[in-house]
Amino acid sequence: MSSLIEGRTGKWEVVIGLETHAQIIAKSKLFSGAATAFGAEPNTQVSPIDAAFPGMLPVINRHCVEQAVKTGLGLDAEINRESVFARKNYFYPDLPAGYQISQYELPIVGRGKLTLDMPDGSTREVGITRLHLEQDAGKSLHDQHPTQTYVDLNRAGIGLMEIVSEPDLRSAEEAGIYVRKLRSILRYLGTCDGNMEEGSLRCDCNVSVRRLGEPLGTRCEIKNLNSVRFVMQAIEVEARRQIELIEAGGAVEQQTRLFDSARGETRPMRSKEHAHDYRYFPDPDLLPLVLDEAWIEALRAQLPELPDAKKARFVAEYGLRPEDTDVLVAERATAEYFERVARSNGKSRDAKAAAYWVIGDLFGALNKQGRGIEEAPITPEQLGALLDLIADGTISGRIAKDVFAEMIETGIDAAAIVEKKGLRQMSDTGAIEAAVDAALAAHPAQVAQYHANPKVLGFFVGQVMKATGGKANPALVNELLKRKLVQSS
Ligand code: ADP
Ligand code: MG
Repeated sequence: MSSLIEGRTGKWEVVIGLETHAQIIAKSKLFSGAATAFGAEPNTQVSPIDAAFPGMLPVINRHCVEQAVKTGLGLDAEINRESVFARKNYFYPDLPAGYQISQYELPIVGRGKLTLDMPDGSTREVGITRLHLEQDAGKSLHDQHPTQTYVDLNRAGIGLMEIVSEPDLRSAEEAGIYVRKLRSILRYLGTCDGNMEEGSLRCDCNVSVRRLGEPLGTRCEIKNLNSVRFVMQAIEVEARRQIELIEAGGAVEQQTRLFDSARGETRPMRSKEHAHDYRYFPDPDLLPLVLDEAWIEALRAQLPELPDAKKARFVAEYGLRPEDTDVLVAERATAEYFERVARSNGKSRDAKAAAYWVIGDLFGALNKQGRGIEEAPITPEQLGALLDLIADGTISGRIAKDVFAEMIETGIDAAAIVEKKGLRQMSDTGAIEAAVDAALAAHPAQVAQYHANPKVLGFFVGQVMKATGGKANPALVNELLKRKLVQSS
């Protein structure tokens, strides 16, 4: 797949590395017992530790450590048996301590990898550099008062996992696929809810450009993107800005930039800060974090089947195409729904048909209703029973669409709808033959065309289906029509 950008002076390759901040699912904060629930009244979930009162000591939240290790395992990464918390010093009104507790030289998780599922069914591997634990900052509220800024510390001290990728991504599209896949894995693991609107998952995008074969160019970092769409748009416009700059004889300056989605441009925020600007040093209040081998293995044993393994199994077990499988495995609830459509009530159904009904019809209906699959108005067993009615010839595929629409509206079983509305397929040859004869008699001109133009068969199928209210068995209709058209033309 070529993803090069055409400039004025030739083709350019975009190079992207992502730093993703994922809020850990945990009841309390990383180093305090204060609650983490979203949307509470400002400053109601703040302990003296989060507010940085003098003399307060942080205590590590064991559950947050567990979540980070699980995530590391889910990314096929090295789990560091010993890691160290460091203070990252900077002044900001919503950071009362004047430093953030983070990890620097020795993060809890080292190298791992993530597989991108490309739209054509192929895959590509992206390196994960590290995952470290850190605290979130508070929030400055600029819109509460005309001349003053308020500070809400509810978010201060909440545990985050910063997940850093290698500069392995080569297009905005790949970056979008990366973020979606990472979110999917986090949600499977139950370590982050992936809710980008609420800020549980935010991305910093590092972007540079180069001509093919050249060494890596100077990068800019675009901060705090909170949707997949913005990640992709920001990369696109930033890459074009850099290409135009270089082609006009300029040079990219390493910077931290902000994306303005309304104007569709990135703007400088500050020149790039360097690690030494933060005066990192090991936090003297916290001992090195040492993990027990057996404890790590116990966590590994609890991991659920993750999207890649599920995808491989769906392809092998159900004969699905990899590119159809991606949508099914993206969310655990969807995968489970599909499997129950394909197999339930002691029946093993046509898995491809099951997949298409879920991805196509069900997703379409849910989208229209603005619901997720957890709120689907019909159970997978009900959808499976509809498939059974098609498979045993009770209804045609055409009629099944109408039955499905009514099931979605009312939640009533397929069989009940078919009985109530008299939708059983006509497989009675005599009745169908009568309809076929009537159609042929009514359109002698089209009958005469059949030899020269076999496509009129489709016209007659349409006529017969119309006359029978869509209930005639399509295979029988085709067979009878062909026979009679050959005879009479
Ligand atoms: P820092 O600590 O200064 O932010 P890192 O070396 O940790 O720098 O890199 C941060 C991110 O930038 C990583 O995701 C990495 O993949 C990415 N990156 C590094 N070099 C480049 C480059 N030349 N172009 C694009 N991304 C890059
Ligand atoms: Mg960085």
